[in-house]
Amino acid sequence: MAVTPNLQDYTSVTAGFSWEKEQSSLTGLPNNQGLNIAHEAIDRHATSELKDQVAFRFIHKDRSVMDCTYKDYLELTNRFANVLGELNVNKGDRIFSFLGRIPELYFAALGTLKKVAVFCPLFNVFGPEPVFQRLSRGDAKVLVTTKDLFEKKVRQLLERLPELKYVLLTDIDQDEDEQIRSLPRLMEQASDEFIIPPTDPEDPALLHFTSGTTGMPKGALHVHKAVLVHYVTGKYVLDFHPGDIYWCTADPGWVTGTSYGIIAPLVNGVTNVVDEEEFDATRWYSILEEQKVNVWYTAPTGIRRLMRMNINPREKYNLENLRLMLSVGEPLHAEAVVWGEKNFGMPFLDNWWQTETGGIMIANYRAMQVKPGSMGKPLPGVEAAIAEVIDDSFRIIEEPDKDGHLVLKRGWPSMFRTYLHDEERYNKSFHGDWYITGDLAKRDTEGYYWFVGRADDIIKTSGHMVGPFEVESALMEHPAIAEAAVIGKPDQLIGELVKAFIVLKPEQHADENLKMDITAHARRKLGPAVAPKEIAFIDNLPKTRSGKILRRLLKARELGLPEGDLSTLEQP
Ligand code: ATP
Ligand code: MG
Repeated sequence: MAVTPNLQDYTSVTAGFSWEKEQSSLTGLPNNQGLNIAHEAIDRHATSELKDQVAFRFIHKDRSVMDCTYKDYLELTNRFANVLGELNVNKGDRIFSFLGRIPELYFAALGTLKKVAVFCPLFNVFGPEPVFQRLSRGDAKVLVTTKDLFEKKVRQLLERLPELKYVLLTDIDQDEDEQIRSLPRLMEQASDEFIIPPTDPEDPALLHFTSGTTGMPKGALHVHKAVLVHYVTGKYVLDFHPGDIYWCTADPGWVTGTSYGIIAPLVNGVTNVVDEEEFDATRWYSILEEQKVNVWYTAPTGIRRLMRMNINPREKYNLENLRLMLSVGEPLHAEAVVWGEKNFGMPFLDNWWQTETGGIMIANYRAMQVKPGSMGKPLPGVEAAIAEVIDDSFRIIEEPDKDGHLVLKRGWPSMFRTYLHDEERYNKSFHGDWYITGDLAKRDTEGYYWFVGRADDIIKTSGHMVGPFEVESALMEHPAIAEAAVIGKPDQLIGELVKAFIVLKPEQHADENLKMDITAHARRKLGPAVAPKEIAFIDNLPKTRSGKILRRLLKARELGLPEGDLSTLEQP
């Protein structure tokens, strides 16, 4: 489709960029009452010519489709805000959801923001303990969930959660008691008119727990001002244009599910497709076709699953509306970018960010030359750098092509404002004006950033620092390999040896010959010092529910150490 990208010239946009200027594209609350995410996402569109446009297109498990316009969502979110008022929810109180991708989740999120309370989504496959951990650490006052999830996982926790005043069930008709209430009934009784109270851009809006890839999940707190990053990344990275149909496959329990599954598309006034179902390759392809999706945001784990299937989507599906495909959450191997190009006629555009950053920080843009395997360049308005960080010493590395810590200059609007109940850890993640991300990367001479690994996952072998991503990328180029994860295993002689865990493609057989062939391939690509010394074939890699490989668990199991916090582990 011939649509001119919003970001046509990276250098001049970056040079002329200011957050203040971008903010003038948002309206702010009427009468200078501040800045509220829900107002920018819903209300201002619901009172414009967009009011009858579809805001959410829900695809239910059975494939039936329900459209909700911006005006519909204005009313639903108003009602929900009034429900919270009815329950004496105050500014700053925490409202949790424990739901799949159903309409209630979306109006609860935005209705909470209207009330200037703080919204925190939980992934609906958490067991009781992870739910308890987050509700108690997050001081939950209200929880929105379904009867089924409540009975299975929450009722048993109530005694331990004295702060939790109300549980709103989406699918009961009558209140059970003062505490366990019927959401439909409350919604029906509530008015569909609501005036958003004055909202300071610095008022807390969202609480998101990190994925727990490197340890105990941390609760990152974000403020209303974050909406500016959602708007800007929607415009330049997701390249939203009027009338676009957009689909984000992220789970709503993670930050991507909120920033890009709710806020960014609505702020930019496009139609947001929400599929209730989990990954299913044929379903995914047919949604892209039937919904005429223009912009598709997904993750490496999903892409690798599609790659494993060995089908050429364009032969079976009409994907002519698809203009842009993006990926986040884990490093996207060059293999996958190239596969996208070959099979969809366009690359997957990798972009990097974290729960803490609240929005995309480094990206490949539609109008930019893509270097497969690179995360791209910083968002206009965001200053990134590579730094040497050793204990308390900190030095920005100016030379290109050097590995170091990826750091960001304080001041982008969606920066987290604290780790809940862990101010010390928050402070520790800054050095002066620089936020230390915990990831290692390098920048090339043209300003592209390349992911090296998480600081925690770096392997020190025979005097080399080896990033798992480099080794895994090389392994992925072997035709028999579907997925790979490498760890460092303590070794008396060389410090740590590189051990690879490999998942083979379906038709492959794990045997000694294949192992030798993979070793030879890796040595050719990486040299003998960096190539894995040990290889193990396994059926599945342990992953978080947001699709990230849990290398720390592979390592703990390998070394017979305690497995640590596994609340976010995906059950294969
Ligand atoms: P925890 O902080 O609890 O260990 P986590 O870091 O996995 O978990 P998230 O905030 O969900 O939690 O994930 C952000 C991290 O994901 C980044 O710091 C980075 O390590 C990884 N990541 C995200 N996008 C990319 C990308 N495009 N390339 C490489 N890594 C990425
Ligand atoms: Mg992290």
